[in-house]
Amino acid sequence: MKKIPSVVLSIVCGAIAAPSFAATTVLECGKLLDVKSGTWRDKVSITIDNKTITSIGPWGANTNALNLRAYSCLPGLMDMHVHLSDDPKPQVQQLRESLSSDTADFAFGSVRLAERTLMAGFTTVRDLGAADGLNVAMKRAIDAGSIVGPRMFTAGKAIGTTGGHADPSNGLSQAMRKANGKPGPENGVINSVDSAREAVRSRYQEGADLIKITATGGVLSQASSGQNAQFTDEELNSIVKTAKDYGFRVAAHAHGNEGIKRAVRAGIDSIEHGTYMDDEAIALFKKHGTWYVPTISAGKFVAEKAKIPDYFSPLVQPKAAAIGPLIQSTFSRAYKAGVKIAFGTDAGVFPNGENAKEFRYMVEAGMPELAAIRSATLGAAELLNQSQRLGSVESNYAADIIAVSGDPLKDISVLEKVEFVMKDGQIYKKPGQK
Ligand SMILES: [Zn+2]
Repeated sequence: MKKIPSVVLSIVCGAIAAPSFAATTVLECGKLLDVKSGTWRDKVSITIDNKTITSIGPWGANTNALNLRAYSCLPGLMDMHVHLSDDPKPQVQQLRESLSSDTADFAFGSVRLAERTLMAGFTTVRDLGAADGLNVAMKRAIDAGSIVGPRMFTAGKAIGTTGGHADPSNGLSQAMRKANGKPGPENGVINSVDSAREAVRSRYQEGADLIKITATGGVLSQASSGQNAQFTDEELNSIVKTAKDYGFRVAAHAHGNEGIKRAVRAGIDSIEHGTYMDDEAIALFKKHGTWYVPTISAGKFVAEKAKIPDYFSPLVQPKAAAIGPLIQSTFSRAYKAGVKIAFGTDAGVFPNGENAKEFRYMVEAGMPELAAIRSATLGAAELLNQSQRLGSVESNYAADIIAVSGDPLKDISVLEKVEFVMKDGQIYKKPGQK
């Protein structure tokens, strides 16, 4: 799908002395969701100059305005846990690709995944881990306009411990492990306070925007436990302390209760999945102001695939069957207890572009529609430390705007059919376009 050039609806010329041209776009929305007050504003005209929203007012007489009068406009959606470099596949295919594909093959294959995500209305994502700098390069390509995709905040390579969820040598034979050499901090594997510090600094050198660690076992790695704690307190403290020096926030993948508690106590910013959190863990989230990023979609997807013989390896299948179905009820408990929730799906574990299904799962589990939308706008922006420019449609914010038919506060599933997408003032999708 080709990028549509931004519709320059009226050109405001600079004075002769100033040779620059400012492109002004005007959108007329049937209504606009003010996510901060939680109310709709009717018959709204939004003016965008270059990449920024400059004013919001009533419909006017501007005949060049883009007509979205039949649509509901909202801020661009934000997913705090994706892997744009991955899409799900059965173990046999995965094994074949890992033996015979180069990073460049994965990179080219990822281009359409980034595009699908943006076309689904997700204008900003946090990419929580890819090997060989793929996600960092992808962010650069999107920023340069070489490929189409959401605004990315990337973790670079996730950090784990030997045999842990982010160890790239898991599942290899001894001979292959020997041939490849033992992965170290550069490849995101640490086993001490010092190597933890080095791994964070390697992410800085790599060009990452934040740090992702795998605080417990995980479902899809070739290892027996999906929930054992995999860092010592000292290692976690070293990561968090070093991350602060570089202005990084830290996201922690964690299913098991002990690993969740250690990570929260160490001061990480968000827990991803959080499957087995107990009441004590929930109290710690609230005490430390830690965000919870649920990823219900990924849990449901792997639980379904676990029923297909040979889809997963014998090590992975029982973990997918046990952990997958639990996340939605964990989410329900955490939300009701008042834990801060930022929208996140783990797209890549399920097909990229289907991110908006998560809204339905959140509402099913007891979260009101408005709160679910706020988790993917205001909440996500706060987790990213971007509240001053992302997550709301108002003056001086980045022009990230989507439109849907119908009212997502009454039927959240309309967010699964986004009709209009603007990112940074550029229009990528218009009503009627697939
Ligand atoms: Zn993930």
